[in-house]
Amino acid sequence: MATRQEVYAAIDSERDYQENLSRNEFKQQTPMEHVSIIRTIVNRSDDHWYDVAGQLPMDFMRKIAGVAVRAMEQHGAPKRGGDLSAKYVQYEHHGTTVWVDASLKGKHREHCLCFACEKFRPGTPENCPIAQATFENCVKFNTTTPVFECPEFVQIQQV
Ligand code: SF4
Repeated sequence: MATRQEVYAAIDSERDYQENLSRNEFKQQTPMEHVSIIRTIVNRSDDHWYDVAGQLPMDFMRKIAGVAVRAMEQHGAPKRGGDLSAKYVQYEHHGTTVWVDASLKGKHREHCLCFACEKFRPGTPENCPIAQATFENCVKFNTTTPVFECPEFVQIQQV
């Protein structure tokens, strides 16, 4: 058994070794190149396990972990669960502070069927009753509600 601290120290020693490899001419490698290196080490561990009666030195694990660490150093190290604090943001919308998925902010027109529908007449008495009711609900509760699905949709004809 080893403590996590001892494990990380072993991986650190592997990283130092990797950085000083004389054949390490490709300093920057893609994520899939790192995966390929890991696969090579896994294949070698299979051979060793076969050759030496089912035994596997933890050196193989240290090497695999070192390559995985190197990949994350070069391409980012996302934490488990992601950074939710960056996923949702607040902003002022029609005088009210609202929350929104940052990737969808200001994009409701791109996704709402109404903006491609013949029946959409915002601000007029002829407006589609479904769209009007949706709009009034948004005004009442300060929400933004794109219509993703609608049985009454009629696509605007291209000129
Ligand atoms: S029919 Fe549906 S898609 Fe068309 S304006 Fe009304 S709610 Fe929007």
